[in-house]
Amino acid sequence: MERAIYFLDQKDMPTRWYNVLPDLPEPLPAVLHPGTGQPVTPDDLAPLFPVGLIMQEFSPENYIEIPDEVQEIYRTWRPTALHRAYRLEKALDTPAKIFYKYEGTSAAGSHKPNTAVAQAYYNKVEGIKRITTETGAGQWGSALAMGCMLFGIELKVYMVRVSYEQKPYRRILMETWGARVIPSPSSDTNAGRNMLAKDPDCPGSLGLAISEAVEDAATREDTHYSLGSVLNHVLLHQTIIGQEARKQMEMADCYPDIIVGCVGGGSNFAGMFLPFIKDKITGKKPRLRIINVEPESCPTLTKGLYAYDFGDAAGMTPLLKMFTLGHEFMPPPVHAGGLRYHGMAPIICHLHKLGLVEAVAVPQVATFEAGVTFARTEGIISAPETNHAIRATIDEALKCKESGESKVILLAHSGHGHFDMAAYESYLSGKLTDYEYPEEKVKAALASLPRVPGA
Ligand SMILES: *Cc1c(COP(=O)(O)O)cnc(C)c1O
Repeated sequence: MERAIYFLDQKDMPTRWYNVLPDLPEPLPAVLHPGTGQPVTPDDLAPLFPVGLIMQEFSPENYIEIPDEVQEIYRTWRPTALHRAYRLEKALDTPAKIFYKYEGTSAAGSHKPNTAVAQAYYNKVEGIKRITTETGAGQWGSALAMGCMLFGIELKVYMVRVSYEQKPYRRILMETWGARVIPSPSSDTNAGRNMLAKDPDCPGSLGLAISEAVEDAATREDTHYSLGSVLNHVLLHQTIIGQEARKQMEMADCYPDIIVGCVGGGSNFAGMFLPFIKDKITGKKPRLRIINVEPESCPTLTKGLYAYDFGDAAGMTPLLKMFTLGHEFMPPPVHAGGLRYHGMAPIICHLHKLGLVEAVAVPQVATFEAGVTFARTEGIISAPETNHAIRATIDEALKCKESGESKVILLAHSGHGHFDMAAYESYLSGKLTDYEYPEEKVKAALASLPRVPGA
């Protein structure tokens, strides 16, 4: 048997992040100020983010050096391994070659520390003492709790209430790293109080928790805000994944025909595919397929509108051009909390609009079926988010079985599911259900899209 795992030496870990912005065939639509309809300036963002990150958000440079302090921390778990999924291939009886790059070996168990550590570093350099953020299932909150702990920054996390109640262990993880966690909606902010007045039992949403965290940061001098996905600089930090994967695929003497990943805000998957997409843009690999996988219950790319919308539920953030289900959309409480976001990274949306990437939506039960198949072949128990990508990978591998093609499939494996045992129990005991595409709720939410001044 050939090798089942490809390790990179520490000395071969990339020392720069890859910035796709200058390589895009058409420029990314501008981020707009909601009041004026004009493109936002770095000054508009300065109350929320450190200059280092704002520069990256708009950077025309192809590569950005990873600071030594960040590299040093990356090296405590990076480079991550690339695996060949021989046992899964055999179980599926497919001629496809399946590779997966596993990001679950970071201390927080996912890809998110790749950006959490970088963001904490740039805030630290600028003398920021306190950061606020939101978290859904708790993966982002825990990654940032770890990042802030490493740089001695205080962290307050607004955690979506359903997750706060259903997933106490992620909260305790954050608290163990020293963060303060409160359920959102909370009575600490206007956005939270307004929602509680309307609906005291509101289960919360990522969009609402963002509103609370942004309001908290915007109203305090010593505090910045941090976002775990969606924005250009977050995707940039994740490109360490795809750059490593390129080197490892070379070691395996393979180039992917298909790259598959799950998308909530899009950061883990963009981190994987962006370092490959230039080959497609330049025509070197015109047939490379890039498949974004989302839940049927929150089908942003497959059913959303491509329009300017707010990043948060209360309508406080700048306007982003993205596929959106409407910022007022409250997705059903599926277990893949990290995929319950009404919008999507503008970079991914732009690439989708240009026809350079594709998207599929998958139902919840089928994702857990795929996750259990993966656990019973490859051993890893995957995050419910990742199970979406595994589902689509298996589907593509089964198509290869039909056609007899031995395509190379590269799966972005975003993290482990060790804190999601309740979801697995629900699946194993036959209690897990699918949620229909909430067409009526999406329609209602889309009616509230902001009018862009002057447009
Ligand atoms: C947060 C999370 C996701 C979704 O976020 P993206 O920004 O789309 O990557 C996916 N998988 C895991 C394990 C996560 O923690």
